[in-house]
Amino acid sequence: MAAIEMKNIVKQYGDGYPAVNDVSIDVADGEFVILVGPSGCGKSTLLRMIVGLEDITSGDMLIDGERVNDLAPRDRNLAMVFQNYALYPHLTVYENIAFPLRLAKRSKEEIDEKVREASRTLDLDEHLERKPANLSGGQRQRVAMGRAIVRDAKAFLFDEPLSNLDAKLRGQMRTEISRLQKRLGITTVYVTHDQTEAMTLGDRVAVMKKGVLQQLASPRELYEQP
Ligand code: ADP
Ligand code: ADP
Repeated sequence: MAAIEMKNIVKQYGDGYPAVNDVSIDVADGEFVILVGPSGCGKSTLLRMIVGLEDITSGDMLIDGERVNDLAPRDRNLAMVFQNYALYPHLTVYENIAFPLRLAKRSKEEIDEKVREASRTLDLDEHLERKPANLSGGQRQRVAMGRAIVRDAKAFLFDEPLSNLDAKLRGQMRTEISRLQKRLGITTVYVTHDQTEAMTLGDRVAVMKKGVLQQLASPRELYEQP
C-alpha cells in the first residue's frame, strides 16, 4: 500500500486552467519523491493539498489507505518543513523539539526520552541548550525534522526549503537532507523548481507543467530519455 496516494487530484481556483489538473501519484512507504517544475506549475498547491492546507476540488487523497480529503491538517499527522523552519527563537533546541509533545500533554519522562533519542539520531545532542539564532542552517533544519520525528509524523513535506540559500550551503544541505531521509526511512515529498536538486535528491521525480503531471520516473530514467 502506498503511504500517500493522490488519485486524479484537481484544484480549480477561479476560471482558466486548473492549478492542478488530474494528477495521480503514488508515494511508496519510505520513498523520496520530488515535485519539480517552473513557477506557477501547481507544485505548492499539490503539496498543500497533501497537508490539508488547501481544499481539493476533485479527486481523492489517501494517507496509509485512509481518505483524508476532509481531514484537518492536525489529524493527518504529516510534517511540513517550511523554508524558514518556523522554530521558536526564544526556546532552546530541546524545547523546540519537545514542543509538539508538550502540546499533546505527554509525560515529562516520555518527552525527555523522545527528545534525547531524536537528538542523537540527528546529531543534535551537543546543542540541546542552544537557541536557534546560535545554530547553523543545517542544524536548524535538523531541529525542524526533530520536531516531526518525536511525534512520529508519517511523512515529511518540504516546500522549497533551500531556495533562499547560497549555492554552497544549498549543496551541503541537499546532501544532509538526503542522508537523513535515508537514515530515517521516512516517506518524503519535496517541492523545488531547481532541476539539479530534483535530479540528485529523489528516488523519483514528478515533472509538472501548467498543473499537469508530465513525467514520473527515477532520475536515471529521466537522464536516459532521448
Ligand atoms: P508553484 O508552486 O509551482 O509555483 P502554485 O501551486 O503556487 O505553483 O500555483 C499554481 C497556480 O495556481 C498559479 O497559477 C497560481 O497563481 C495559482 N494559485 C496559487 N494559489 C492560489 C490562490 N490561493 N488563489 C488563486 N490562485 C492561486
Ligand atoms: P510561494 O511560491 O513562495 O508559495 P507565492 O507568491 O506563489 O509564494 O504565494 C504566496 C501566497 O499567495 C500563497 O499562500 C498562495 O496560495 C497565494 N497565491 C499565489 N498565487 C495566487 C493568486 N493568483 N491569487 C491569490 N493568491 C495567490
